[in-house]
Amino acid sequence: MAHVVTQNCCNDATCVSVCPVNCIHPTPEESGYATSEMLYIDPETCIDCGACVEVCPVNAITPDFELVDSEQIYLEVNAQYFADPTHRDYDQAPVRTRAPSVSIVQPQPLRVAVVGSGPSALYAVEELKSYRGLDVEVTIFERLPSFGGLVRYGVAPDHQSTKSVDKLFMTTARRAGVSVHLNVEVGSDLSLAELLRHHHAVIWAGGASSDRQLGIPGEGLSGSHAATDFVAWYNGHPEHTNAEFDLTCERAVIIGNGNVALDVARVLTTPVDELARTDIAQHALDSLAASKIREVVIMGRRGPGQAAFTTPELVGLISNDALDVTVLADDLGLDATGLAATDPPPGSMAELKVRLIRGLPRAHVSSEARQICLRFLGSPIAIKGADRVTGVSFARTELDLVDGRASARTTDTAFDIDCGLVLRSIGYRGSVIPDLPFDETTGTVPNIAGRVIDPGTNEALAGLYTAGWIKRGPSGVIGTNKRCSRETVRALIEDYSSGKLPAPEADAAALAGLLAERKPDSLTLEDWRVIDKFERSQGRSQQRARTKLVTIEELLATARSSR
Ligand code: NAP
Repeated sequence: MAHVVTQNCCNDATCVSVCPVNCIHPTPEESGYATSEMLYIDPETCIDCGACVEVCPVNAITPDFELVDSEQIYLEVNAQYFADPTHRDYDQAPVRTRAPSVSIVQPQPLRVAVVGSGPSALYAVEELKSYRGLDVEVTIFERLPSFGGLVRYGVAPDHQSTKSVDKLFMTTARRAGVSVHLNVEVGSDLSLAELLRHHHAVIWAGGASSDRQLGIPGEGLSGSHAATDFVAWYNGHPEHTNAEFDLTCERAVIIGNGNVALDVARVLTTPVDELARTDIAQHALDSLAASKIREVVIMGRRGPGQAAFTTPELVGLISNDALDVTVLADDLGLDATGLAATDPPPGSMAELKVRLIRGLPRAHVSSEARQICLRFLGSPIAIKGADRVTGVSFARTELDLVDGRASARTTDTAFDIDCGLVLRSIGYRGSVIPDLPFDETTGTVPNIAGRVIDPGTNEALAGLYTAGWIKRGPSGVIGTNKRCSRETVRALIEDYSSGKLPAPEADAAALAGLLAERKPDSLTLEDWRVIDKFERSQGRSQQRARTKLVTIEELLATARSSR
């Protein structure tokens, strides 16, 4: 018997540190960790002790004998990782990740402001609080009157297990010495300089919530949107509550094939009675109930071997009986031998993904279920329509191997797909932050290992740090942020220990006074717990995970109602 990691894996590697035989890989210390789609349990080494199950924040680990039919594939997914002999070349000894200890000569407490309340922010707080021998006070600032960032507004509503990571983050936020101020925007309510006057350091972990543009004709037409806006809308983000998406057409096209594309396609095609059990925003549920969309086409510009979605998400999609997932034979890029020249190497994880895609039914005219059609080798050249979207023109692409990477080259062959809705799902992007340097090319804050730098000199800017998507770009799953935030906190502690962070000019009482003056309607963690409890209890009465409050006014009023 062995344990098996399944779809929800958040990669935060809490399981790695408790495994007595070191059978969960890649560990954060191993080179493949940063880009790994998930973690895997070596079935030959697992002793079935279940220690990993106890600590997994998202219930992603199951004993093999409890896997249901649709999860059996994870036996292969886990084993496949270790089919590569170098992946099994590890010491069968526990990886002991003891809390780091420091001996600090600087006056304590260390006072750190963390901007953001999503995964990277909360992993940074947890890391700060994990140092033995360090007295640290953390102030969390979040611009919305809600807590959770990407967990609340980014994770798809049908991925409730993934959202259970919020329990871990609430535990962190409730630690002694951590205070939370919601509805406070750093950059307008308080300046960065003011934060630095009251803290030794600031960690900017506010995420990257803007979208990228394709830069093709027709992108601005009615019916053409960023998938990131659609995600924020169905997740009840207060700044997107009034958005409108016309779902009266029969076909939608999603450009780009990352996990966001799969999330959006599922939400567009899942039967509404299933979505009604989740925490999807009511306005989205109402629109989806009236939706006429029968088919969602997801177009990747490269081939199946380069699809950006992860294998666990693909497995989740195709094992959902309510969904009809297909491919078009012409798109598979096969040569006369039935293989594509750019196929991933046999035995690799990417090869498993390709096998799953090639095994899908071919696209057909579906009479019953709504259909998601995975398409490949098409690069968008224009979004068509006079005053609103009527279709998308694509150029057929071919793949060139350049330095081992398959890149798409457009050919002269073009084809159109008729549709009434286009969602570009080509990645998130960070936005300019007042008083911090910004790299327009990457959409990130320039930094070295989390220390914000002056891009002109590469010199670190004293007291300024960054973590998460705004530090490294919009990649990785929730737990990927743990290692990212750890790196940042280690840099901060190193600077503090070596006396590079001068003591703040003003104390905590002065900060409380400033906040009361600038933002009298800021909320505390206690206020958030009132909102959370309200949403959950409203949800329970309707057999839903929760009923989200979707406007700033509702959130504030609910918090105030208990004061
Ligand atoms: P992503 O994974 O980076 O995918 C972006 C997609 O857009 C790729 O298919 C990319 O193609 C395509 N693309 C980029 N520029 C394009 C262009 N000009 N024309 C056509 N296609 C273009 O981004 P994402 O889906 O937004 O996800 C962001 C991160 O969040 C990822 O790490 C993802 O795994 C994570 N996430 C995870 C989950 C989950 O675990 N359930 C859910 C949502 C998001 P190329 O590959 O050819 O560049």
